Amino acid sequence: MAMRPPIESGVPDNKQYLHPTLLKNYGNWKWHDRPRPGVLHHVAHSGDEVWSVRAGTQRQMDVYTIRKLCDIADTFAEGHVRFTIRSNIEFMVSDPAKVAPLVEALTSNGFPVGGTGNSVSMIAHTQGWLHCDIPGTDASGAVKALMDDLHAEFIREDMPNRVHLSTSCCEINCGGQADIAIIVQHTKPPKINHDLVANVCERPAVVARCPVAAIRPALVNGKPSLEVDEKKCICCGACYPPCPPMQINDPEHSKLAIWVGGKNSNARGKPTFMKMVASGLPNNPPRWPEVSAMVKKILYTYKEDARSWERLSDWVERIGWPRFFEKCDLPFTKYLIDDWRGSRANLNASTHIRF
Ligand code: SF4
Ligand code: SF4
Repeated sequence: MAMRPPIESGVPDNKQYLHPTLLKNYGNWKWHDRPRPGVLHHVAHSGDEVWSVRAGTQRQMDVYTIRKLCDIADTFAEGHVRFTIRSNIEFMVSDPAKVAPLVEALTSNGFPVGGTGNSVSMIAHTQGWLHCDIPGTDASGAVKALMDDLHAEFIREDMPNRVHLSTSCCEINCGGQADIAIIVQHTKPPKINHDLVANVCERPAVVARCPVAAIRPALVNGKPSLEVDEKKCICCGACYPPCPPMQINDPEHSKLAIWVGGKNSNARGKPTFMKMVASGLPNNPPRWPEVSAMVKKILYTYKEDARSWERLSDWVERIGWPRFFEKCDLPFTKYLIDDWRGSRANLNASTHIRF
């Protein structure tokens, strides 16, 4: 009997989708520049040239918008697009005469051209209510509201260095590391529905999940359930995904916090973790005005005060955290900027169950 072939799944080979000039010169590029914000120009060793025009979208797109982008690719570009890691869309053309009509077609259809160099590129966000079962806010909505305000910084390149922003709709999972990040912050321990715990939750898994060992098995009304030591609980929400009856999301007590200074690249300085600088902001859809105001305050203070090529973390490193709080008009409390090395030993970093 013939062997059954394995079912391969995962990312398909990207070469089949590449623009022919990119495919022909794959790995053989000589130099590149940016003729204007949002346009990259690459020259290959073979002498071939390609222009990539980068545009922002509203992030979560309906099929009509995707068709419109594809029509623009067919009419004004050469039928090929790609998405960047920050979900900008790029159109490739091999003729410089096609760049200006393509830019005009995109902007007149509401897709701003930019996001290159020292701009505020598109904000990365987590999936939120569209795609996940534990979010405490609509991360993509906060992004849309903020990018509407920051449109001018997307289409020009006059920040000190590139600025990456992100939003995350829970505190524990796919949240992004960024120069400025907006992250959900729960402020009360989970509320337990004891009638459901025994039916829904694998209790040892939930107990092991807690980073500060605040959860214990308990019998409540004669049924196996769980209890939380509220003095220990740090309101992280890690128990909620494996045990939905431990509801942590709350319309009043789930807030938003701002973190700054994250950087993944090691250009000019080593990568840095971000730190929380503001907390307790209202989770206020559909425009989150308090969050947008605070992000803009931090962003424009950085823009005014940083030296050329300083990333936000480099700027804070140079002026020091006390000056950062002063300049951004932010109150400093003992709950911010946790630099305490002992937290490694304090937090539960193992999967052992503790009772
Ligand atoms: S950040 Fe959390 S809630 Fe949001 S999509 Fe990721 S896992 Fe889900
Ligand atoms: S997992 Fe987090 S939210 Fe749940 S009890 Fe432990 S500290 Fe509190």
